[in-house]
Amino acid sequence: MELMAIPGKSGEEAKVVEYIRSKLLASGAPAELIKTDDATKRTLIAGNTGNLILKLPGTVKGPRRMLSAHMDTVPICVGCEPKVDGQFVKSANPTTGLGGDDRAGAATILTAALEILERKLPHPPLTFCWFVQEEIGLSGARHIQQSLLGKPAMCFNWDGGSCDKVTIGATGGYRMLIEIEGVASHAGVCPERGVSAIAIASLAIADLAKGGWHGLVVKGKSRGTTNVGYIHGGEATNVVTDCVSLKAEARSHDPKFRGKIIARIEKAFQSAAKEIKSSEGRRGSVRIEGRLDYESFLLDSKSECVRLAEAAVSAIGRTPMQAVSNGGLDANWLNAHGIPSVTLGCGQMNVHMTSEMLDLAAYRDACRIALLLATAVD
Ligand SMILES: [Zn+2]
Repeated sequence: MELMAIPGKSGEEAKVVEYIRSKLLASGAPAELIKTDDATKRTLIAGNTGNLILKLPGTVKGPRRMLSAHMDTVPICVGCEPKVDGQFVKSANPTTGLGGDDRAGAATILTAALEILERKLPHPPLTFCWFVQEEIGLSGARHIQQSLLGKPAMCFNWDGGSCDKVTIGATGGYRMLIEIEGVASHAGVCPERGVSAIAIASLAIADLAKGGWHGLVVKGKSRGTTNVGYIHGGEATNVVTDCVSLKAEARSHDPKFRGKIIARIEKAFQSAAKEIKSSEGRRGSVRIEGRLDYESFLLDSKSECVRLAEAAVSAIGRTPMQAVSNGGLDANWLNAHGIPSVTLGCGQMNVHMTSEMLDLAAYRDACRIALLLATAVD
Protein backbone atom coordinates (compact mmCIF):
# COMPACT_ATOMS: atom_id res chain seq x y z
CA MET A 1 0.00 0.00 0.00
CA GLU A 2 2.85 2.38 0.86
CA LEU A 3 4.79 1.53 -2.28
CA MET A 4 1.81 2.02 -4.61
CA ALA A 5 1.14 5.47 -3.12
CA ILE A 6 4.59 6.79 -4.05
CA PRO A 7 4.54 8.79 -7.33
CA GLY A 8 7.25 7.41 -9.60
CA LYS A 9 6.81 7.19 -13.32
CA SER A 10 9.71 6.11 -15.53
CA GLY A 11 12.85 8.10 -14.76
CA GLU A 12 11.46 9.34 -11.43
CA GLU A 13 12.00 6.31 -9.21
CA ALA A 14 14.28 7.91 -6.59
CA LYS A 15 11.56 8.07 -3.89
CA VAL A 16 10.82 4.37 -4.43
CA VAL A 17 14.53 3.58 -4.05
CA GLU A 18 14.61 5.62 -0.84
CA TYR A 19 11.63 3.71 0.56
CA ILE A 20 12.99 0.24 -0.29
CA ARG A 21 16.47 1.11 0.99
CA SER A 22 15.08 2.32 4.32
CA LYS A 23 13.08 -0.91 4.77
CA LEU A 24 16.14 -3.04 3.98
CA LEU A 25 18.34 -1.08 6.40
CA ALA A 26 15.72 -1.27 9.16
CA SER A 27 15.67 -5.06 8.76
CA GLY A 28 19.43 -5.32 9.15
CA ALA A 29 20.73 -5.36 5.57
CA PRO A 30 24.34 -4.12 5.63
CA ALA A 31 24.45 -0.70 3.92
CA GLU A 32 27.45 -1.66 1.78
CA LEU A 33 25.46 -4.49 0.15
CA ILE A 34 22.81 -2.06 -1.16
CA LYS A 35 23.80 -0.16 -4.30
CA THR A 36 22.27 1.83 -7.13
CA ASP A 37 23.99 1.24 -10.46
CA ASP A 38 25.13 3.59 -13.22
CA ALA A 39 22.42 2.58 -15.73
CA THR A 40 21.21 6.18 -16.16
CA LYS A 41 24.43 6.95 -18.06
CA ARG A 42 22.97 4.78 -20.84
CA THR A 43 19.19 4.73 -20.39
CA LEU A 44 16.70 6.27 -22.80
CA ILE A 45 15.99 9.20 -20.47
CA ALA A 46 18.33 10.65 -17.84
CA GLY A 47 16.35 9.48 -14.79
CA ASN A 48 16.89 10.47 -11.14
CA THR A 49 18.21 7.04 -10.04
CA GLY A 50 19.75 3.85 -11.36
CA ASN A 51 18.62 0.29 -10.68
CA LEU A 52 18.62 -0.70 -7.00
CA ILE A 53 20.57 -3.84 -6.14
CA LEU A 54 20.92 -5.82 -2.91
CA LYS A 55 23.52 -8.56 -3.10
CA LEU A 56 23.59 -11.05 -0.22
CA PRO A 57 26.26 -13.72 0.24
CA GLY A 58 24.73 -17.18 0.74
CA THR A 59 24.41 -18.86 4.11
CA VAL A 60 24.14 -22.17 2.25
CA LYS A 61 25.99 -23.21 -0.90
CA GLY A 62 24.35 -23.11 -4.28
CA PRO A 63 24.17 -21.16 -7.50
CA ARG A 64 23.28 -17.47 -7.04
CA ARG A 65 19.60 -16.69 -7.56
CA MET A 66 18.27 -13.32 -8.60
CA LEU A 67 14.81 -11.87 -7.88
CA SER A 68 13.66 -8.80 -9.76
CA ALA A 69 10.77 -6.39 -10.42
CA HIS A 70 10.47 -2.89 -11.83
CA MET A 71 9.86 0.25 -9.76
CA ASP A 72 8.39 2.64 -12.34
CA THR A 73 4.69 2.87 -13.10
CA VAL A 74 2.89 4.26 -16.14
CA PRO A 75 2.05 8.01 -15.79
CA ILE A 76 -1.67 7.33 -15.26
CA CYS A 77 -0.81 5.91 -11.80
CA VAL A 78 0.70 9.11 -10.44
CA GLY A 79 -1.64 10.44 -7.74
CA CYS A 80 -3.02 7.01 -6.87
CA GLU A 81 -4.65 6.51 -3.45
CA PRO A 82 -4.54 2.78 -2.73
CA LYS A 83 -7.50 1.50 -0.76
CA VAL A 84 -8.50 -2.02 0.24
CA ASP A 85 -11.92 -3.01 -1.09
CA GLY A 86 -12.76 -6.56 -0.01
CA GLN A 87 -10.31 -8.96 -1.67
CA PHE A 88 -8.86 -6.22 -3.89
CA VAL A 89 -6.86 -3.03 -3.71
CA LYS A 90 -8.07 -0.19 -5.95
CA SER A 91 -7.26 3.49 -6.26
CA ALA A 92 -9.68 5.71 -4.36
CA ASN A 93 -8.78 8.41 -6.88
CA PRO A 94 -10.95 7.50 -9.92
CA THR A 95 -8.71 9.33 -12.39
CA THR A 96 -5.62 7.20 -11.69
CA GLY A 97 -4.54 3.61 -12.05
CA LEU A 98 -3.23 1.72 -9.02
CA GLY A 99 0.39 1.09 -9.94
CA GLY A 100 0.31 -2.55 -8.84
CA ASP A 101 2.25 -2.89 -12.09
CA ASP A 102 4.79 -3.11 -10.80
CA ARG A 103 4.90 -1.92 -7.20
CA ALA A 104 3.25 -5.19 -6.22
CA GLY A 105 6.23 -6.96 -7.82
CA ALA A 106 8.63 -4.61 -6.03
CA ALA A 107 6.83 -5.42 -2.76
CA THR A 108 6.88 -9.17 -3.48
CA ILE A 109 10.65 -9.36 -3.69
CA LEU A 110 11.10 -6.80 -0.89
CA THR A 111 8.97 -9.02 1.35
CA ALA A 112 11.19 -12.01 0.55
CA ALA A 113 14.31 -9.97 1.39
CA LEU A 114 12.84 -8.64 4.66
CA GLU A 115 11.64 -12.08 5.77
CA ILE A 116 15.09 -13.53 5.16
CA LEU A 117 16.86 -10.69 6.96
CA GLU A 118 14.51 -10.51 9.97
CA ARG A 119 14.05 -14.25 10.49
CA LYS A 120 17.67 -15.06 9.54
CA LEU A 121 16.48 -17.77 7.15
CA PRO A 122 19.11 -19.91 5.41
CA HIS A 123 19.51 -18.99 1.74
CA PRO A 124 21.84 -19.42 -1.25
CA PRO A 125 23.70 -16.37 -2.62
CA LEU A 126 20.98 -13.87 -3.61
CA THR A 127 20.71 -10.79 -5.77
CA PHE A 128 17.61 -8.61 -5.47
CA CYS A 129 17.18 -6.07 -8.23
CA TRP A 130 14.60 -3.31 -8.58
CA PHE A 131 14.69 -1.96 -12.12
CA VAL A 132 14.04 1.55 -13.36
CA GLN A 133 12.43 2.61 -16.68
CA GLU A 134 10.69 -0.62 -17.67
CA GLU A 135 7.54 1.01 -19.02
CA ILE A 136 9.34 3.15 -21.58
CA GLY A 137 11.09 0.21 -23.26
CA LEU A 138 12.87 -2.03 -20.73
CA SER A 139 15.63 0.53 -20.44
CA GLY A 140 16.79 -0.19 -16.87
CA ALA A 141 17.19 -3.94 -17.43
CA ARG A 142 18.81 -3.34 -20.79
CA HIS A 143 21.48 -1.05 -19.35
CA ILE A 144 22.04 -2.68 -15.96
CA GLN A 145 25.56 -2.55 -14.58
CA GLN A 146 26.07 -6.29 -14.83
CA SER A 147 29.20 -6.37 -12.66
CA LEU A 148 27.07 -5.51 -9.59
CA LEU A 149 24.86 -8.60 -9.96
CA GLY A 150 27.44 -11.24 -8.97
CA LYS A 151 26.80 -13.59 -11.91
CA PRO A 152 23.40 -15.06 -10.99
CA ALA A 153 22.68 -18.48 -12.48
CA MET A 154 19.02 -17.61 -12.99
CA CYS A 155 16.45 -14.93 -12.28
CA PHE A 156 12.83 -14.86 -11.13
CA ASN A 157 11.14 -11.68 -12.26
CA TRP A 158 7.76 -10.44 -11.00
CA ASP A 159 5.53 -8.31 -13.19
CA GLY A 160 1.84 -8.08 -14.09
CA GLY A 161 -0.58 -10.99 -14.15
CA SER A 162 -1.81 -13.92 -12.10
CA CYS A 163 0.50 -15.56 -9.56
CA ASP A 164 0.39 -19.03 -11.13
CA LYS A 165 1.54 -17.83 -14.55
CA VAL A 166 5.13 -18.76 -15.41
CA THR A 167 6.21 -16.83 -18.49
CA ILE A 168 9.06 -18.65 -20.22
CA GLY A 169 9.35 -16.58 -23.39
CA ALA A 170 8.45 -13.25 -24.94
CA THR A 171 8.33 -11.66 -28.34
CA GLY A 172 10.95 -9.37 -29.86
CA GLY A 173 10.08 -5.83 -30.89
CA TYR A 174 11.42 -3.41 -33.51
CA ARG A 175 10.54 0.28 -33.80
CA MET A 176 10.73 2.42 -36.91
CA LEU A 177 10.65 6.13 -37.65
CA ILE A 178 9.62 6.78 -41.26
CA GLU A 179 10.08 10.21 -42.78
CA ILE A 180 8.61 11.03 -46.18
CA GLU A 181 9.75 14.05 -48.09
CA GLY A 182 7.67 15.24 -51.04
CA VAL A 183 7.54 18.51 -52.93
CA ALA A 184 5.37 21.43 -51.79
CA SER A 185 3.30 23.41 -54.29
CA HIS A 186 0.11 25.47 -54.41
CA ALA A 187 -2.78 23.03 -54.19
CA GLY A 188 -5.06 25.19 -56.38
CA VAL A 189 -2.69 26.88 -58.81
CA CYS A 190 -0.28 24.04 -59.60
CA PRO A 191 -0.90 20.83 -57.59
CA GLU A 192 0.67 18.83 -60.45
CA ARG A 193 4.06 20.38 -59.63
CA GLY A 194 3.94 18.98 -56.10
CA VAL A 195 4.52 15.55 -54.66
CA SER A 196 2.23 14.80 -51.74
CA ALA A 197 3.94 13.06 -48.84
CA ILE A 198 0.47 12.29 -47.45
CA ALA A 199 -0.44 10.45 -50.67
CA ILE A 200 2.78 8.42 -50.48
CA ALA A 201 2.09 7.46 -46.85
CA SER A 202 -1.49 6.48 -47.72
CA LEU A 203 -0.44 4.28 -50.63
CA ALA A 204 2.13 2.52 -48.46
CA ILE A 205 -0.24 1.88 -45.55
CA ALA A 206 -3.02 0.75 -47.90
CA ASP A 207 -0.59 -1.68 -49.55
CA LEU A 208 0.40 -3.12 -46.13
CA ALA A 209 -3.22 -3.40 -45.00
CA LYS A 210 -4.40 -5.06 -48.22
CA GLY A 211 -1.52 -7.51 -48.24
CA GLY A 212 -2.06 -8.63 -44.65
CA TRP A 213 1.06 -6.90 -43.32
CA HIS A 214 -0.68 -4.46 -40.96
CA GLY A 215 -2.08 -5.62 -37.62
CA LEU A 216 -1.91 -9.35 -37.04
CA VAL A 217 0.42 -10.82 -39.65
CA VAL A 218 0.00 -14.51 -40.48
CA LYS A 219 1.97 -15.97 -43.38
CA GLY A 220 1.99 -19.76 -43.49
CA LYS A 221 3.25 -20.87 -40.08
CA SER A 222 4.88 -17.53 -39.31
CA ARG A 223 3.19 -14.97 -37.11
CA GLY A 224 3.86 -11.43 -36.04
CA THR A 225 2.21 -8.06 -35.51
CA THR A 226 2.73 -4.62 -36.96
CA ASN A 227 1.25 -1.22 -36.25
CA VAL A 228 1.61 2.22 -37.71
CA GLY A 229 0.83 4.05 -34.49
CA TYR A 230 1.69 7.64 -35.27
CA ILE A 231 1.30 9.80 -38.34
CA HIS A 232 1.91 13.51 -38.55
CA GLY A 233 2.09 15.90 -41.49
CA GLY A 234 0.53 18.82 -43.25
CA GLU A 235 -0.41 22.36 -42.25
CA ALA A 236 -3.10 23.55 -44.66
CA THR A 237 -5.42 22.35 -47.43
CA ASN A 238 -4.00 24.79 -49.97
CA VAL A 239 -0.50 23.34 -49.86
CA VAL A 240 0.57 19.99 -51.26
CA THR A 241 2.16 18.46 -48.15
CA ASP A 242 5.88 17.93 -48.42
CA CYS A 243 6.67 16.28 -45.06
CA VAL A 244 5.09 13.38 -43.17
CA SER A 245 6.55 11.41 -40.28
CA LEU A 246 5.27 8.07 -39.12
CA LYS A 247 6.18 5.69 -36.31
CA ALA A 248 5.61 1.99 -36.70
CA GLU A 249 6.52 -1.22 -34.91
CA ALA A 250 6.93 -4.87 -35.82
CA ARG A 251 6.94 -7.81 -33.41
CA SER A 252 7.52 -11.51 -33.81
CA HIS A 253 8.91 -14.31 -31.68
CA ASP A 254 10.79 -15.41 -34.80
CA PRO A 255 13.66 -12.97 -35.53
CA LYS A 256 13.85 -14.12 -39.16
CA PHE A 257 10.18 -13.48 -39.78
CA ARG A 258 10.40 -10.15 -37.96
CA GLY A 259 13.18 -9.22 -40.40
CA LYS A 260 10.89 -10.15 -43.27
CA ILE A 261 8.09 -7.98 -41.90
CA ILE A 262 10.46 -5.02 -41.51
CA ALA A 263 11.72 -5.47 -45.08
CA ARG A 264 8.12 -5.59 -46.32
CA ILE A 265 7.25 -2.33 -44.53
CA GLU A 266 10.33 -0.64 -46.00
CA LYS A 267 9.43 -1.89 -49.47
CA ALA A 268 5.86 -0.60 -49.18
CA PHE A 269 7.09 2.94 -48.49
CA GLN A 270 9.86 2.89 -51.09
CA SER A 271 7.48 1.60 -53.81
CA ALA A 272 4.81 4.12 -52.85
CA ALA A 273 7.37 6.92 -53.31
CA LYS A 274 8.01 5.67 -56.85
CA GLU A 275 4.31 5.71 -57.74
CA ILE A 276 3.91 9.48 -57.54
CA LYS A 277 5.67 11.83 -59.95
CA SER A 278 5.22 15.60 -60.40
CA SER A 279 4.65 17.21 -63.82
CA GLU A 280 8.34 18.09 -63.76
CA GLY A 281 9.39 14.50 -63.13
CA ARG A 282 10.20 14.94 -59.44
CA ARG A 283 9.58 12.22 -56.89
CA GLY A 284 9.45 12.05 -53.12
CA SER A 285 11.89 10.21 -50.93
CA VAL A 286 11.60 8.02 -47.85
CA ARG A 287 14.05 7.80 -44.97
CA ILE A 288 13.62 4.98 -42.45
CA GLU A 289 15.37 4.63 -39.10
CA GLY A 290 14.84 1.47 -37.10
CA ARG A 291 16.08 -0.11 -33.91
CA LEU A 292 15.58 -3.38 -32.11
CA ASP A 293 13.90 -2.65 -28.76
CA TYR A 294 14.40 -6.13 -27.40
CA GLU A 295 15.13 -9.58 -28.78
CA SER A 296 12.70 -12.45 -28.29
CA PHE A 297 13.56 -15.44 -26.11
CA LEU A 298 12.10 -18.81 -25.26
CA LEU A 299 13.45 -20.93 -22.40
CA ASP A 300 13.47 -24.69 -22.57
CA SER A 301 10.31 -25.62 -20.68
CA LYS A 302 12.38 -28.13 -18.71
CA SER A 303 15.21 -25.76 -17.79
CA GLU A 304 16.21 -25.31 -14.13
CA CYS A 305 14.63 -21.91 -13.52
CA VAL A 306 11.33 -22.99 -15.12
CA ARG A 307 11.33 -26.18 -13.05
CA LEU A 308 12.03 -24.28 -9.81
CA ALA A 309 9.37 -21.63 -10.51
CA GLU A 310 6.77 -24.28 -11.25
CA ALA A 311 7.72 -26.25 -8.14
CA ALA A 312 7.27 -23.12 -6.00
CA VAL A 313 3.84 -22.39 -7.52
CA SER A 314 2.80 -26.01 -6.87
CA ALA A 315 4.18 -25.90 -3.32
CA ILE A 316 1.75 -23.17 -2.30
CA GLY A 317 -1.16 -25.15 -3.75
CA ARG A 318 -1.64 -23.51 -7.13
CA THR A 319 -1.29 -25.08 -10.58
CA PRO A 320 1.50 -23.52 -12.65
CA MET A 321 0.58 -22.38 -16.15
CA GLN A 322 3.33 -21.84 -18.69
CA ALA A 323 2.90 -18.80 -20.90
CA VAL A 324 4.67 -16.94 -23.69
CA SER A 325 4.19 -13.17 -23.84
CA ASN A 326 3.45 -11.00 -26.87
CA GLY A 327 4.81 -7.98 -25.03
CA GLY A 328 8.39 -7.23 -23.99
CA LEU A 329 9.58 -7.91 -20.43
CA ASP A 330 12.68 -7.04 -18.42
CA ALA A 331 13.32 -10.79 -18.78
CA ASN A 332 14.01 -10.22 -22.50
CA TRP A 333 17.12 -8.27 -21.56
CA LEU A 334 18.09 -10.51 -18.65
CA ASN A 335 18.07 -13.46 -21.04
CA ALA A 336 20.03 -11.42 -23.57
CA HIS A 337 22.56 -10.72 -20.76
CA GLY A 338 22.94 -14.49 -20.29
CA ILE A 339 20.73 -14.86 -17.18
CA PRO A 340 17.92 -17.37 -17.82
CA SER A 341 14.82 -15.64 -16.43
CA VAL A 342 11.20 -16.54 -15.91
CA THR A 343 8.52 -13.99 -15.10
CA LEU A 344 5.71 -14.51 -12.61
CA GLY A 345 2.72 -12.35 -11.75
CA CYS A 346 1.49 -11.15 -8.39
CA GLY A 347 -2.21 -10.56 -8.92
CA GLN A 348 -2.26 -7.31 -10.92
CA MET A 349 -5.37 -6.87 -13.07
CA ASN A 350 -6.35 -4.29 -15.75
CA VAL A 351 -2.85 -2.79 -15.71
CA HIS A 352 -2.27 0.61 -17.33
CA MET A 353 -5.95 1.51 -16.84
CA THR A 354 -7.87 3.51 -14.22
CA SER A 355 -9.72 0.27 -13.39
CA GLU A 356 -6.48 -1.41 -12.26
CA MET A 357 -6.82 -3.67 -9.21
CA LEU A 358 -4.62 -5.94 -7.16
CA ASP A 359 -5.97 -9.34 -6.10
CA LEU A 360 -4.76 -9.69 -2.49
CA ALA A 361 -4.99 -13.49 -2.32
CA ALA A 362 -2.81 -13.78 -5.43
CA TYR A 363 -0.42 -11.15 -4.11
CA ARG A 364 0.05 -13.01 -0.81
CA ASP A 365 0.66 -16.25 -2.71
CA ALA A 366 3.20 -14.47 -4.92
CA CYS A 367 5.03 -13.44 -1.71
CA ARG A 368 5.06 -17.07 -0.56
CA ILE A 369 6.38 -18.20 -3.96
CA ALA A 370 9.13 -15.57 -3.90
CA LEU A 371 10.23 -16.59 -0.42
CA LEU A 372 10.38 -20.26 -1.42
CA LEU A 373 12.51 -19.40 -4.45
CA ALA A 374 14.80 -17.09 -2.44
CA THR A 375 15.38 -19.68 0.28
CA ALA A 376 15.89 -22.45 -2.32
CA VAL A 377 13.23 -24.67 -0.77
CA ASP A 378 11.79 -26.74 -3.61
ZN1 LIG B 1 5.12 -3.98 -15.58
